[in-house]
Parts: sequence; structure tokens; C-alpha cells
Amino acid sequence: MKRMRTPLIALAAVGALALSACAGSTDSGDDAAPAPADVSFEEGTTMAALNEAGKITIGTKFDQPLFGLMGPSGTPEGFDVEIGKIIAAELGISEENIEWKETVSANREPFIENGQVDLVIATYTINDERKEVVSFAGPYYMAGQSILVLADNEDITSEDDLVGQPVCSVTGSTPAAMLEEIGAEPVLTDTYSNCLEPLRNGAVVAVSTDNVILAGLAAQNEGEFKVVGEPFTEEPYGIGLALDDTDFRMWINDVLEASYEDGSYEEAWNKTAGTVLPYVDPPTPDRY
Ligand code: GLU
Repeated sequence: MKRMRTPLIALAAVGALALSACAGSTDSGDDAAPAPADVSFEEGTTMAALNEAGKITIGTKFDQPLFGLMGPSGTPEGFDVEIGKIIAAELGISEENIEWKETVSANREPFIENGQVDLVIATYTINDERKEVVSFAGPYYMAGQSILVLADNEDITSEDDLVGQPVCSVTGSTPAAMLEEIGAEPVLTDTYSNCLEPLRNGAVVAVSTDNVILAGLAAQNEGEFKVVGEPFTEEPYGIGLALDDTDFRMWINDVLEASYEDGSYEEAWNKTAGTVLPYVDPPTPDRY
């Protein structure tokens, strides 16, 4: 999380688009999942172990429309989920052999550290604090913190209007820390969907987290909420994995870059978050 004074144009467009959007679900239509690759990997690597096991466990959000939302099919849908399918396919693992585990913001690092998941793909901001305990491939997307209010609210137009005000966010998230920093009164829960009732009943004046999450919530509840102001942080989304697994991290960076080249990243976007949000060229992975 980095406070940003000059918002990216692409991020600024997100809030406006979300207002006019009507898509409430991430219908993946009849698009086929990426076919598992016929591959083999160097013995001793995580890639070889996963390929031999023929399955992978991925942590994602289950309540965030556009990125990770549990659907009627019993498997989550969204852009993060599609990124997970692309990686699994390159490991030679088919979609049915991905075990999706719900992660909330606060349990992502422990789930990786304890080996409960192989990867976390969950609107997960790369930052130095988290990099002390887990590592990140990516970034594969750049989000930014923004503000959601009731549709008829005319009083809150930027983060400056949140000072001294009760604002809902999620424990263990970067936006929760930023609310503290700007002098708002954070009211914290475990998932962003749990912030909507307090917003409706006036217990909080706003919900604050990444613009793309708020855009999904606004689109899902058409006419009830609006995203206001410009994004005021940068939230580079990464794929979380075990701290010392440099080979796996670099390999995932290769997979991401290949997906940018061959169109599968854009296709994944278009059938999920792209139903509401504009496509922007992805950032280059940071091979730290
Ligand atoms: N991207 C931010 C984070 O990783 C906020 C979204 C979330 O909580 O998942 O903390």
C-alpha cells in the first residue's frame, strides 16, 4: 500500500464506470477453461510436486463479485479465479482438480505459512510487510483504494471527508491501515460484504477498500451505492506463495507474462471483471 497523490487515469475511470454498470454476476458463459498442458518439471521443484499430485489448493475470496465470488455452481467465479485456472493449466492440472479454499484478508499469510494453500490469489496487495512472511509473483493488476457510499450521499467526495468518521473495512487489509493513517475511525469486520449492512443502516458513513472490489459490490446492488472520489493508494495485486520458493515464484511470473502475450489474461479479464470495468494493460511482474 502506497499513498498516491496522482491517481492513474485508468483507476479514475473505474468508479465512474461502476456507476453505470449493471452486471451483477461474473457469468463465465460457455468459455472453455484453459486446457491442462502436457508438461514435466525439474524434480524437487514445487511445480513438479504439484504436477505429479495432479491437484492444487488455491485460496481466494468467496464474497467479492468480479474477482472471487462463490457461484451457484459451487465453485467461485471471478478474475482471480481465472488467473488460478491459467496457472493450474500450465502445471498440467485441470480445473476440476483445483481445490478452492476461502481466504479472508486476515488469514492469507497464515494459510500460506501453514501450507493450507499452495497459492493465494485474492485481491492481495504486494507490500514489504507481507513480503517478510510470504512471497509474491506479479503484480498482475493495479488497483487503488477508494470509497463506497449510499447512492444519495452528497457529503463524502474524497478521503478527506472520512476524517473522524466511522468507515467500514476489513481486518488485516491494507485499506484498514490506511483509514487509520488518514484519521478516519475504522470499523472492521472480516469480509467486505459484511460492511454493506452497516452502510445501509447508517452505522458507518462509507466502506473503503480497493476500487475494483467496491465496483463489484456497487454493480451487484444496482442503484443502492456509488463509488466516489479518486483512488488514493496503489494496490498492486500479487499471487501469494511460500516465502522461499523462488523457483515457483519466477515460474508463475513466466506464466503471467505468457498469458499477457497469448491473450488468455485479457480473455480472463473480459469474461469476469471486464463485464463492469475497463481493460487496462497489465503491469510487468516484479522479479525481485
Ligand atoms: N488489496 C487489499 C489487501 O490486500 C485490500 C483488499 C483485500 O482485503 O483483499 O489488503
